[in-house]
Amino acid sequence: MNTFFIEYRDPLFSVIIFFVLVFVIAVFSYWLGRYKKKEDSKYLDKFLQGFRSLPSHDELKVLISSGELSEKSWLLLAQSYFKNGDYEKSIEIYNELLSIGGKSNARDTMFLLGRTYFKAGFLERARKIFLEILKNNPRTPQALNYLLLVYEYMRDYKSAIEVLEPLGELQKETVNDAAYLQSLMLINDESKSGIEKAESLLKIYKETNILSYMVFEYLFRINPKLAWKNFDSSKSEQLSELLWQLDTKKLDLDIIAQNGYLRELYTARGDVKLASKSSVFEFDMLIKLEGKSNATLAFEYICDGCKQTHPFIFSRCSSCHAIDTARVEMSLTKDYYRNLVEENNSFQ
Ligand SMILES: [Zn+2]
Repeated sequence: MNTFFIEYRDPLFSVIIFFVLVFVIAVFSYWLGRYKKKEDSKYLDKFLQGFRSLPSHDELKVLISSGELSEKSWLLLAQSYFKNGDYEKSIEIYNELLSIGGKSNARDTMFLLGRTYFKAGFLERARKIFLEILKNNPRTPQALNYLLLVYEYMRDYKSAIEVLEPLGELQKETVNDAAYLQSLMLINDESKSGIEKAESLLKIYKETNILSYMVFEYLFRINPKLAWKNFDSSKSEQLSELLWQLDTKKLDLDIIAQNGYLRELYTARGDVKLASKSSVFEFDMLIKLEGKSNATLAFEYICDGCKQTHPFIFSRCSSCHAIDTARVEMSLTKDYYRNLVEENNSFQ
């Protein structure tokens, strides 16, 4: 027993106990630190997960009806979903806001819902919403504008034209819309012959001087002679792509020889040799290359209204819905078609 006490009081024993305690504390605090870090990371992952997945329909319902967020905040959220192309979520928010009822700006919410339906391609639902707005507030030009677009996209041109009357009464400019809708209605009219439609289209074109691409594309397809006879040389540049793609058999060399732009365009394409240079860079390069290089023209269109670039010609801009605002931009590109023809020939 005495021996034990002597050993217990030994200074070496105290030093050992001290280091053991330091070791235990160090291990414990290391373990505690690791555990806390793991728990924090778990919590953060869970927290962020809530933002990655969108709230479900039922969650939205509860969130909106609880009134924790103001109506304006919900409208801003719906707008940001709309901008990101998540129309479904945007529609759910608008519908939920409307179902609560008693909100001060229900008409605006309905308009935003109709616009989202239109953008998402639910044309019938969009039509019903805009008609509902107009039933109570017939003097709402924005709703009338969208109703016109809905009918146009539904190919119900007759109803779209009927919308022009109330729009005109609200001092809105409808000349371009009227010309565009009448031209569309004509082209899609099964009861008329091609030549009848072409002549009526020309009549509309001469009255308004817009939609040159749409009109001349139809004319060159149906009756190239009539197209050349009525060719508007002031629109040559705008019609560049149409002229560039035109079949050789459809060319009128007399008219081409009289028009500087056409001389340069068809010399660049290699049909004639009526120009030695051009002020248009792309034509000039192709004229100088004399068909020795595998190059051709590429076309794209910029909307003068919203500056959006489109890969194809348009009569109504799909972004800002303006009519006849396409401006052509040309560039030189590799001629893949010629490549293909040469490759096919080499196999024969
Ligand atoms: Zn535009």
